[in-house]
Amino acid sequence: MKGPKPAPWIGKIPAYVPGTSKDTVTERYGIKNPIKLASNENPLGPSPAALEAADAARAGMHLYPDPDALELRAAAAAFFRCRSDQIVAGNGSDEILDLLCRAYLVPGREVIIPALTFSYYRIASLVCGAEVVVSAMDGFAVDVDDIIERASEKTGIVFVANPNNPTGTCLKQADILKLVSALPPETLIVLDEAYAAFVREKGFMSAVKLIDEHSNVATIHTLSKSHGLAGLRVGFCVAGEPVISTISRIKPPFNMNIMALKAGAAALGDKEFLKQTLEVTWQGLDYLYEEVGRLGLAYVPSQTNFVLIHIGERYLRVYEELLKRGIITRAMTSFGLDGYLRVSIGLPGENEAFVRALREVL
Ligand code: PMP
Repeated sequence: MKGPKPAPWIGKIPAYVPGTSKDTVTERYGIKNPIKLASNENPLGPSPAALEAADAARAGMHLYPDPDALELRAAAAAFFRCRSDQIVAGNGSDEILDLLCRAYLVPGREVIIPALTFSYYRIASLVCGAEVVVSAMDGFAVDVDDIIERASEKTGIVFVANPNNPTGTCLKQADILKLVSALPPETLIVLDEAYAAFVREKGFMSAVKLIDEHSNVATIHTLSKSHGLAGLRVGFCVAGEPVISTISRIKPPFNMNIMALKAGAAALGDKEFLKQTLEVTWQGLDYLYEEVGRLGLAYVPSQTNFVLIHIGERYLRVYEELLKRGIITRAMTSFGLDGYLRVSIGLPGENEAFVRALREVL
């Protein structure tokens, strides 16, 4: 049927492919409580402090939320070691990515995106009519030299997830410094640190340290993973004054709902919950490395709360067989990486159930 005419570039946008939901598995295979290891969520649930704050906030749902997110930004400033006026809060970091693209892209401007990374960078860029330039990977790692080679005066934004999704690799301090010093101040460098809390690698550096010196560096953060608030939607941009004042102008005034404002601030202050999250994640990673290795499968050592496992040609069959056993992983087809499954770290019992099912279906 003919309808209204969208902008010409909208037709080029691939749909975002999310992880299979628990409801789908229940409906398709009649499994009551599937284990979802597909979207890098926090297996511990929300922090108790966040739950309590959200409960208390409910009574105020007839009032507009604070458009400046003052309390949440103060908590974020303490957590990320920066000033409140260097932060914009978003309805998930997806909204921050949208704001940056809308502010810094025009049709025809180029965006550099690594070949194997989070798919929303491409979607948010194409929405603005930008041209996506794909940067080749160095194995499973983002290749800073390749990005630098592809950059030109046409480049509006460079996106780098550090650590990267779905490979779990991270760039070291020297790589980030090289990237930042090679690109001109007109090019916005977005360093997405959605998984930074999970990094064990010694050479990692958060780019928040660079924002005072480099006005073209914008860092992205989320409470969806390490802080267990994926369903509430809390993300941040931490950057210098030019980027913050630019995206503040186009931010919808009431983008953060009252539960997200209150629970987000409480979650950032709950150090014990973060400690437990990291313990569960790191133990789970080490357990999976050992068991997956024992099954003779290769994996990519990860600095995040998920791991990429090489299954080979039969990976889609293995993915389906795991679903039938109530284990939801992520087949990497939509990321353009055949032969691999990405598995989020769950609770110890969930990781064990995954290994048992994998052993059965291989
Ligand atoms: N960046 C990366 C690298 C991600 O993996 C994700 C979530 N999958 C996001 C950003 C978006 O996170 P959210 O919108 O939940 O904050």
